[in-house]
Amino acid sequence: MGEIKTIGVLTSGGDAPGMNPAIRAVVRSAIYYGMNVKGVRHGYNGLINDDIVDLNLRSVSEIIHRGGTMLYTARSKEFMTEEGQQKAYETCVKHGIDALVVIGGDGSFRGCQAISKKGIKTIGIPGTIDNDIACSDYTIGYDTALNTAMEMIDKLRDTTQSHERCSVVEVMGRHAGYLAINTGIATGALCTLIPEKEFDIERDIIGRIQETQKQGKKNFIILVAEGVGKVFDIANYIEMRTGIETRATVLGHVQRGGSPSMRDRVTAAEMAVEAVELLNNGVYNRVIGMHDNKVVNYDIDEALQMKKELDPHLVSIANIISI
Ligand code: ATP
Repeated sequence: MGEIKTIGVLTSGGDAPGMNPAIRAVVRSAIYYGMNVKGVRHGYNGLINDDIVDLNLRSVSEIIHRGGTMLYTARSKEFMTEEGQQKAYETCVKHGIDALVVIGGDGSFRGCQAISKKGIKTIGIPGTIDNDIACSDYTIGYDTALNTAMEMIDKLRDTTQSHERCSVVEVMGRHAGYLAINTGIATGALCTLIPEKEFDIERDIIGRIQETQKQGKKNFIILVAEGVGKVFDIANYIEMRTGIETRATVLGHVQRGGSPSMRDRVTAAEMAVEAVELLNNGVYNRVIGMHDNKVVNYDIDEALQMKKELDPHLVSIANIISI
């Protein structure tokens, strides 16, 4: 114990609401346990370019309620190379950084793996709106993104209803349909297309629209996960086949922003304090997760090999209540 004197904290990959409260909790808990904290700005690029700032209790004031990340984030191509990783390691040595807490997705955890091979201790905290980290039931940012998507689609529903239209809405999720399927359930979508499940446009969309039309339905919301894409083509096809005026909307990056929800703030605090306590107890090269509402941690290699399946029960619920 007491082996680690200085922790570096960085955010990496796509930003997610809740990264700021996570940074704050890392800083405050590290100081609580007697460690120094350095902020690494712009993800792994900050380690390569020596973009490091000292953080103290007051440096993280007034960020708990803010979306985005005060440390900025990046996708660093250079860090994927051996030269980049060596530069990053040298920056850690220069600043006396013994351990890194990395808040991001699984790509960012691969970065942890790489730098840990050079001797820097690492802990990964899952921060991504996609909820696609296999070792965790839940990721920081997911709840806020869900609520943002739900609020946006509620607004679309108003205008879709007034004009008796069909709205085809793209929500984020390149490889994972968690955001889409939950938003679909929460907003009463007629159909939700997700990357994990093949679909047949005639059976799953046109057929359902026509069937529910016969029962008196006059407006329709179809959700499409980003990984499925083609919302404009799908909208044109629906209009051509059904004659219903159809509009496509891409929610886009609005889903990454906004004040983090209560759940994201509390999860951020729980995961960040666990990360610092592990380091304080001499445990490292782990990824934090949440399982059955309890904070857990896994060896980083093991965590990256785990697979996450979309709960088929959720898909079934979405189908049952969308008739
Ligand atoms: P999101 O879920 O938002 O996409 P992510 O952390 O998975 O987040 P990535 O772009 O995949 O996002 O990864 C973030 C950064 O992590 C990369 O830009 C790169 O700097 C680093 N990284 C990813 N994979 C590796 C790897 N195999 N080796 C070293 N570094 C990596």
